Amino acid sequence: MTDMDGHLVIISGPSGAGKSTVVRSLLDHCPLPLVLSISATTRPARTSEVDGLDYHFLSEQKFREHREQGHFLECKEVFGRGYWYGTLKQPVTTGREAGNWVILEIDVEGAASVMEQLPDVTTIFLHAGSMEELERRLRARGTDTEESIRRRLDVAREEMSRGGQYKYIVENIDADKAAIDICEILVATEKKPNA
Ligand code: 5GP
Repeated sequence: MTDMDGHLVIISGPSGAGKSTVVRSLLDHCPLPLVLSISATTRPARTSEVDGLDYHFLSEQKFREHREQGHFLECKEVFGRGYWYGTLKQPVTTGREAGNWVILEIDVEGAASVMEQLPDVTTIFLHAGSMEELERRLRARGTDTEESIRRRLDVAREEMSRGGQYKYIVENIDADKAAIDICEILVATEKKPNA
């Protein structure tokens, strides 16, 4: 890594906090050279999701091979039901070496693991407002079973309590406004390296 390399940025927040919408708006409107890291997962694709675009959807065996070969910057089993999620090292390194700012949209534990390895990472926690609002958004999404919604709300409660470990907390009432707030944070970070 050199001074010319792009920054690494983590955006976390509970499921239903609107991370994907905010990140899409950020990528569309922020003038920095941002690229989104595509995570690998063993979770089955939702009907609207495209392999290689939303995630790299991998078999358990392929995921395990990557783990055993040390290919992940971080990886973990999310929601305790056997689905793995992880960030592959190689695209992150290649993106940064090309001068891009690589965005990781990952959970709080993955974020903690990256912070330990790379303390200079810029970390942003996206907050949905209240738990009631989060529940409303999860239900409106219409993609989860009742059991899955309950599990996501339990995880969200735990995640909200860990927002303090992030350098910045952004409230997502309106996705475009949250994206503008994040872009302003990143532009300020560019002016003071290692923030
Ligand atoms: P979903 O199944 O709704 O796409 O994502 C579930 C959770 O997994 C989200 O909180 C998301 O941030 C997290 N996640 C997605 N990709 C990764 C990853 O590469 N690493 C980690 N640790 N968490 C991830």
